[in-house]
Amino acid sequence: MYNLRLLRRILPSAGHPQPRWMASQHKRRPQPGSLPPDRLEELRNDLLQRRQELSAAEWTEVRQSLVDGYKHINGHNVDAVILGVCAGPQQLPLAKNYVEFLRSRGSQPNAATLGRLLRVYNAAYHERPLSEAEQAEILQICRNLQAEHETLDASSCEHIIHGLVATGGDDWQGALPLLEMMKVTTSAPSVAAYSALAEKAFSVETEQAQELAWRLLEEMATARKLPKCEVYLALLNRLANATAQIPALLNRLLDFLERHEILVSQRVAERLQELAQQVPQLLEASATSLGPLGKCQSCEQHLQPVAISDEQFRRLSECFLERVLIRRDVFQRSTPEEVARFKKYVAKTAPYDCVIDGLNVAYSTGTKKSPQQLAKLVATVVRHFRDQDKRVLVLGREHMRNWSKQAMHYVQSNASLFLTSNLSHDDPFLLYATLRSGQDTDFFSRDLMRSHAFHLGPELKPVFRRWQQQHQFSLVTQTQTGRIIVKEPIRHRLSAHAVAGAWHVPYCEAYTQHPTESFEVPAHWLCLRLKEQPKETPARAAKGRARR
Ligand SMILES: [Zn+2]
Repeated sequence: MYNLRLLRRILPSAGHPQPRWMASQHKRRPQPGSLPPDRLEELRNDLLQRRQELSAAEWTEVRQSLVDGYKHINGHNVDAVILGVCAGPQQLPLAKNYVEFLRSRGSQPNAATLGRLLRVYNAAYHERPLSEAEQAEILQICRNLQAEHETLDASSCEHIIHGLVATGGDDWQGALPLLEMMKVTTSAPSVAAYSALAEKAFSVETEQAQELAWRLLEEMATARKLPKCEVYLALLNRLANATAQIPALLNRLLDFLERHEILVSQRVAERLQELAQQVPQLLEASATSLGPLGKCQSCEQHLQPVAISDEQFRRLSECFLERVLIRRDVFQRSTPEEVARFKKYVAKTAPYDCVIDGLNVAYSTGTKKSPQQLAKLVATVVRHFRDQDKRVLVLGREHMRNWSKQAMHYVQSNASLFLTSNLSHDDPFLLYATLRSGQDTDFFSRDLMRSHAFHLGPELKPVFRRWQQQHQFSLVTQTQTGRIIVKEPIRHRLSAHAVAGAWHVPYCEAYTQHPTESFEVPAHWLCLRLKEQPKETPARAAKGRARR
């Protein structure tokens, strides 16, 4: 992972001197017409993956060829780069061999290099239990790094955390202050650091460690840092050995996924299914997909509607309008006069059935269009709603007045039209007019409204997201004949939730740190049923004992 991807991009052009083994490899596998092969990749595939150790002469050559061959590699970072290439779980002996080589020539590996070595130990730890000696080596490196620097930079903290969690005993708890240190030196710890620690905490038996793991999960999710698969897998592995805890802890996990709208990966979904096979008396899990209108193909229940309650809508609009009125941080780049004029306009012309972000619509099929095409597209969207007898508000900017007279005339005669100064942001106006119109009003825009959702705070953000999903229309495309294809809101929930006693858990193919925030129906779901264990009454238990 490390610098390899980066280096692939900064691949030096052909013509640099190549080490002997690379040149010969290259000759054996000619790739006519392709780019010059990445030498670092070759180095990894042809040499470093096959060997447990290299001679001093070979290491010297590897080191020198990288410094000579890549502009971005120099004497200071070359050692960390080499250990970045030896990062596989099987390559620990080779990585250690390189560090020994450095020491044998009297140079002290720097913090970045030792940090990389800790990551290789961590990779090995995920494949096999580390020996006592290996754990002692890790702790020695961690102690040295911490002794040398009173404050460690974020990446050193992350490396040491990965080292400490690979050891047994209580030493892993030393990772906690490092996580706190990362909060001071950077704004928030990385996903990798959080995940490594949460994964470890889930794998430790004590109540305290378990609670720490849950706390870290909450912290991550609140900061929208999605826990890696390994964290969930650690919990599920633990449950496989402590099946009595399955009902309580699985419910807690599913509740967490629901509250934070998190999609797990296929790996996690498969582990859940394995767990169900192991304890069919406690858990049933089947892979499923959704039919039209969100019907689960497995249990035939319809997923919950996404609609929020009247009370939730009241709180949402109150909170948003309050921010408009009191904190005034919503209408950035607008003058108070413009905002006042807009509110007066809405008070006079609302309620609407649909509020359209005119500029967003105009540019949604490409920005290189003539003003006439742009205006026509807005008019077509207005017609789409007018044909359904809907009352429409179009928000736009002053410069739209100069667009096609004919199309803008259609807009003006079939919708309310409010134009703001060319500098204003449109979505606060859009949200204001939509919320102000009441719970049935929709809006039309492709904007994901991320920052507005975020600023409402952790409690109202999910409510806002559900409201948004229920009411947001957008333009998919315009066909050759000028017909528009409109994306309608999806009316059922898209994240994990329970229906009639069965949890429906969407999952994606692979983990991604930044999943899309647009509303798409996930293709894959699990239909999970946690079975209640019959509680043994004292009388029944006594009877049972008597019979025995
Ligand atoms: Zn189902």
